[in-house]
Amino acid sequence: MSRTGIAIGAAVAAGLGAVAGTVLVGPVSPRNAAALRRHLEWLRPRPLGTKTSAGLGDRLGLATPGHVRAVRAVGGIAAIAPIFPQQSIREMTRTGRTPIEVMDDATWGMFAEGWKDGTGADADHLKTTADVDACLAVGFSMFTIDPGEHVDSAADTADAATLRERAAALPWADLADSEDAMRRRYLGQSVVVEHLTIAFDEATLLRAAVKYGRAVAHVARMARHLRQAAGPRLVELEVSVDETETPTSPAEHYWVANELNRLEVEWVSLAPRFVGRFEKGVDYIGDIGELEKDIAAHAALARHFGPYKLSLHSGSDKFKVYPIAARLAQGLVHLKTAGTSYLEALRTVAAVDPAFFRAIYAFARERYDTDKASYHVSAELGKAPAAKGVPEGDLPALLEQFDAREILHVTFGSVLKEAGPDGKPRFKDTLFGLLRANPEAYADNLERHFVKHLKPFVR
Ligand code: ZN
Repeated sequence: MSRTGIAIGAAVAAGLGAVAGTVLVGPVSPRNAAALRRHLEWLRPRPLGTKTSAGLGDRLGLATPGHVRAVRAVGGIAAIAPIFPQQSIREMTRTGRTPIEVMDDATWGMFAEGWKDGTGADADHLKTTADVDACLAVGFSMFTIDPGEHVDSAADTADAATLRERAAALPWADLADSEDAMRRRYLGQSVVVEHLTIAFDEATLLRAAVKYGRAVAHVARMARHLRQAAGPRLVELEVSVDETETPTSPAEHYWVANELNRLEVEWVSLAPRFVGRFEKGVDYIGDIGELEKDIAAHAALARHFGPYKLSLHSGSDKFKVYPIAARLAQGLVHLKTAGTSYLEALRTVAAVDPAFFRAIYAFARERYDTDKASYHVSAELGKAPAAKGVPEGDLPALLEQFDAREILHVTFGSVLKEAGPDGKPRFKDTLFGLLRANPEAYADNLERHFVKHLKPFVR
């Protein structure tokens, strides 16, 4: 079915047109997507508050129907509040998409599936006020502020003299604070939060302040900008420091939350950097017992200061983590996924056009060493089977092989952008053509995959 066909069919299902028997027919255009959101309030993204939620990012823009089906299959919005439009600025750049395209693709997907229960919309990993403005303008409702560039991970191993020196150089005016005042508030304090006792001696305090001080100032600046720019519109904010080098200790989480509170920032979820490794598209790497202790501490702090949700970034395929996070966060949890939907697209393609999938895989192997730079991944080319040697029937199984999976995951931008000898996209148009020609197969794969993600969080 063409996309126009989808729109027409769904328009009938949604009763669009107000007058019984009237069917509006129109192209799948930005103007019509905006009109749908204007007239059908359930297509307009809104804040989800502290409800258990999941972000279902979609790099290609064709995944929302499968995502809707997965949410429905686990009990709908009463079980998991969905965020269908979600993409980071980095990935918009890599996929050549704009905020409005991300929004419109999700709108059409919800409309086609007759989803009327609402959605959030996450403008993910925003680093500048210009990012905020661009996403606010097209109706995003959740703004994930990423102050990662302002986190000083070297503080973890700095000695006392270095910490004192760096603490003195913090932007105290931006923090509406002074070092003396901060020392008076924390030093010698021992706070009890549920099962945790957090004691602030000088080293602990200065380490937290040096590591996260500039990040807190940046988040406060971004939050002020968002509040002013949004005016009366209801929006919500997430703070994410997941993409930093070293884990966020409980004392650091305490300090960050306490300081953001003091600066009157309101946030609905926070993504700490957990212990171990949350790599893209593969299960958790590290000591699961350590992670359990870590999540328990962060969850207790989120209840104490918010309550706000713990946000699990790079959340796809972390099947070992879900039951632990669900139990410890007691429903105050947001699961964020993105690239795994692209991998399900590749799974779909591997079944319908193995030769084409093999070409993508071979190209991904060539690109991997360059493309992996901005991700935390540990796949090794030498461990991923060479593209030529894999029998046709075994190609889909590459998506279960750790190294091949990560290689395919982080090279999506190059796959979409690569031009053939004729200057036309080498893969992109064929990839989209195959997915559009096989929408049910793609939706089935997504539904199956995401039910496994969402079910552990249903209470
Ligand atoms: Zn993240």
